[in-house]
Amino acid sequence: MNIQYNLKRSRKRKKTISLQIGDNSELMIYAPYFTPVAEINRFVEEKQTWIDRAMRKQAELLPLHKKKEYVTGENFYYLGQAYPLEAFFEPLENTGVIFWNNRFFLNCPENTEMKKHCFISWYKKKARQYLSERVDFYISMLKLTSSGLRITSAERRWGSCSEDNNLSFSFRLIMVPRQVIDYVVVHELMHIREKNHSSKFWNLVIEVIPDYKAQRRWLREHQHHFNL
Ligand SMILES: [Zn+2]
Repeated sequence: MNIQYNLKRSRKRKKTISLQIGDNSELMIYAPYFTPVAEINRFVEEKQTWIDRAMRKQAELLPLHKKKEYVTGENFYYLGQAYPLEAFFEPLENTGVIFWNNRFFLNCPENTEMKKHCFISWYKKKARQYLSERVDFYISMLKLTSSGLRITSAERRWGSCSEDNNLSFSFRLIMVPRQVIDYVVVHELMHIREKNHSSKFWNLVIEVIPDYKAQRRWLREHQHHFNL
């Protein structure tokens, strides 16, 4: 046995031993309270191939889940491209983010929360500009009426359309490629006509975004890249 693991014994657990890879690539074993350690070791050895594969996968994903540090050289997304950051503090200049010459410039004191706030307000401003433009474009093309547009800080939900046709989009949407943004915009706009995900709804989407399935898959596969 050369695999390290953390063992959690539980009286509630009846029969099975189960395993999980934690956020820091540590192996967690959950076992019924009275399981002999020899049995647990045997279980871990049997699962070795699975564990190795899961650990490798976790290690690949780790940098993506990593929280931003807002330091020079770190990359930030804008319309589907990653651009490097230059971070510094010039107290006599305005605090905040400027995007110039394919680079982000952040003027902010050494405080992660403040830096994060600077980026969020920059992203929100850009998201509002760009999304209003795309919403207006599709609204006139599709002859729809909406009640308003809101930019949110939602982490999981890219967009939504309320009962009374208020549109909301996460500011994170401004980080993804333009064709993916268009899919999300059209998706939410079509909810003005159909408040569900029926085949009738998807037929409306496909008329405007023929490759919507590819855009939807892209979002699902890449959503972890856009944490701040
Ligand atoms: Zn929907």
